[in-house]
Amino acid sequence: MTRSLRPALCFAAVAVLSIPFGAGAAGPAPSDPEVAAMQRQALAGERTWQLVTSLVTEVGPRFAGTPGDAQSIAWAERALREAGFDRVWTEPVTVPRWIRGTATAEILAPHARRLEVVALGGSGSTPPGGIEAEVVEVFDVEALEALPEGALAGRIAFLSRPMEQRADWTGYGEAVPIRSRGPAVAARKGALATLIRSVAIGPDRFPHTGATRWEEGTSPAPTAALAVPDAELLHRQLAAGAPVRMRLVIENEHAGEAVSANVIGEFRGRERPGEVVLLVAHRDSWDIAPGAQDNGTGVATMIEAARLAATASRQGPRRTLRVLLTANEEFGLSGARAYAAAHAAETGSIVLATESDQGGGRAHGLLVNFAAEDAAASGELAALLAPLGVALRSGEAGGGADLSPLAPLGVPLVDLDLERARYFEVHHTINDTLERVVPADLRQATAAWATVAW
Ligand SMILES: [Zn+2]
Repeated sequence: MTRSLRPALCFAAVAVLSIPFGAGAAGPAPSDPEVAAMQRQALAGERTWQLVTSLVTEVGPRFAGTPGDAQSIAWAERALREAGFDRVWTEPVTVPRWIRGTATAEILAPHARRLEVVALGGSGSTPPGGIEAEVVEVFDVEALEALPEGALAGRIAFLSRPMEQRADWTGYGEAVPIRSRGPAVAARKGALATLIRSVAIGPDRFPHTGATRWEEGTSPAPTAALAVPDAELLHRQLAAGAPVRMRLVIENEHAGEAVSANVIGEFRGRERPGEVVLLVAHRDSWDIAPGAQDNGTGVATMIEAARLAATASRQGPRRTLRVLLTANEEFGLSGARAYAAAHAAETGSIVLATESDQGGGRAHGLLVNFAAEDAAASGELAALLAPLGVALRSGEAGGGADLSPLAPLGVPLVDLDLERARYFEVHHTINDTLERVVPADLRQATAAWATVAW
């Protein structure tokens, strides 16, 4: 059952302040002066930007089990200490180790072209020397499932479903099965290898990686994503009707397991230390990606939001604020699962959990999973966020991927919906760089998460 948030969110009604509110705000200041001052500080602050800059510059790619992963553990511990957290510690997490090798793809006939590809995380390898085979285009996983057994024997499957640009997550959610499940289904239908159209928007010529899962008892097949324009080109050659032959060389290594870590920092609550607000962001990135938006912005925002909420009053935060920077979200949610298992007995102390993993856009929507039980608490939180242009939405908060192991345990969840119009242009690519992060948007999102934490 969802616990009440009411005691945590009570505040004295104070007249709306007449002092000017910070740039980036959308309305009058909140009626609590402590929150108003904290939001002003966030909207003028540079610390979130400095943190993401430091992470991208000093660490960069930090895929599970790599040297970058280890460096980012040390980076996160240092960042939390420098932000003044009372306690900083790590908890070990076992992660799968997958090492990327070569990936090349060329059309041999009817019109020879070299294509931009990247292997999907978890991909197997082609035999030595690669493979040459005819390509069969299949729209999506449903169309694959409808094929008779053996229909793709000796062929390369090409899954071509485009991702639609929408304001919410549904465009991604509808397209992502071609990456997560498509290659396994194609292998079951006999395919030698699978190419997918990148799960992405926009015309940029960067292929987007991401995790693919194999069915129990099967060995991983070679599988890679094509950049969107290259997927379009392959589609046009196939649509012209002549057989299309391709040559693929894809080499990767499944190299057992490694030890990584969740990095955790805590500000102890002054009034109710036994009540924990959990702020989650994944610390890892894909191996090819600098991980500025996925998820450097999330890591930086959660550290700074907790610091702002903890220092809004000289006496410290009312409740305990815990920042959890997880290991290996991208390739199997290892850190989130380990945390939920290790802390299962304490979930009753979590009065609120929230996650940042949507890039560095502005916050515009608030969702909670306790509106029905506690309309007053959600209304009070919405009122505090309204000056930032964040509005309460209908629908239920679900938490992000890293909250999925905790969500079924009845933890109160708060989601902030971020502007993500351009996020899926760079998601899981070499182009996920600092240059795509907008500092003013980052300040606004930091103000919003600090308000949730307060
Ligand atoms: Zn992410």
